[in-house]
Amino acid sequence: MAKIDVNLRKDLKPVPAVDKLGFGVHFSDHMLVMDYNPEKGWHDARIEAYAPISIDPSMMALHYGQAIFEGMKAFRAADGNINLFRARDHFRRFNKSARRVCIPELDIEEVLRFLKKLLGVDQQWVPADHGTALYIRPFIFATDQFLGVRPSHTYKLMIILSPVGAYYAEGFNPVKIMVEDEYVRAVRGGIGAIKTPGNYAASLLAAVKAQKKGFTQVLWLDAHELKWLEEVGTMNIMLKIGDEVITPPLNGSILPGITRDSTIKILKGWNVPVVEKQISIDEVMQAGRDGSLQEMFGTGTAAVISPVASIHYKDSSVSINQGQVGELSQKLFDEITAIQYGSKEDVNGWIDTITVR
Ligand SMILES: *Cc1c(COP(=O)(O)O)cnc(C)c1O
Repeated sequence: MAKIDVNLRKDLKPVPAVDKLGFGVHFSDHMLVMDYNPEKGWHDARIEAYAPISIDPSMMALHYGQAIFEGMKAFRAADGNINLFRARDHFRRFNKSARRVCIPELDIEEVLRFLKKLLGVDQQWVPADHGTALYIRPFIFATDQFLGVRPSHTYKLMIILSPVGAYYAEGFNPVKIMVEDEYVRAVRGGIGAIKTPGNYAASLLAAVKAQKKGFTQVLWLDAHELKWLEEVGTMNIMLKIGDEVITPPLNGSILPGITRDSTIKILKGWNVPVVEKQISIDEVMQAGRDGSLQEMFGTGTAAVISPVASIHYKDSSVSINQGQVGELSQKLFDEITAIQYGSKEDVNGWIDTITVR
């Protein structure tokens, strides 16, 4: 079994107060680092002080975007232990992302063991208040010093940790979304189904445009016909129309969300009909107008469930459930978070517990 070097820092930072956490602004004391080269494979795993790194200006990731990332969370259970949510599934997706952009895959069990070690070292960074969590960001980038397009020979893996505040500290805040009918996020056969930085660069202009017009998020349509729903912002999308929950299928241009998967499994367990099928923006606007569109929500690790208040498409708007949080959205949020904090039994084997002394 590969071993990991642990170099603890002595100058520990103060952990910010829970009401000052925000999202993605504070980072813990340590980070996990591992290197890859063709001779040794992934090697030299180490935990060291969180600190800036030095990179060469010709480092390939900066020029050609050969890089991937993940986003998962750990929660403080009532007994003080740490619950890591669906980490294996996140690392499996990380490896799928790696394959698509020619990055060498990781040994999932090994990296999971290293991550647990890191969480043990920085355990005081897992906040305890309900709604808070420790956001975990693994990422890999190409490190060859070279100009020219080809897969890099060397890579670096890092995992950094960020304590995050309650997304809904003041209760749910249903979002106003704008349907983007000019720019697209991703095309089938491209890189839309993996977490790679280029997808997010491609999304910025539309997000800025939507925000200027007073909307919170962009609802993306498919790249070929600008007709079929894809995703909302960096979340998967679900709609309750009549008695059925509808979500776009994983057809190659949308991200296979872990929260999407958790939601589908929970709904099935409740005998709520869930269908993965293409749904057009015209159908959605029609269902909004005739009242059959009862609820709409995004799913993602950051917000878990993000209710949609209204949709704006071309020159018309529809509001959903009078802009209020739907019953099913609330129930799903409560169920998923209860499993994450350990107040509800984990029947699906989604939790890895890290015991804290
Ligand atoms: C990460 C992400 C999601 C949500 O995935 P989760 O695994 O549920 O966090 C959805 N869409 C995009 C584009 C994403 O980057």
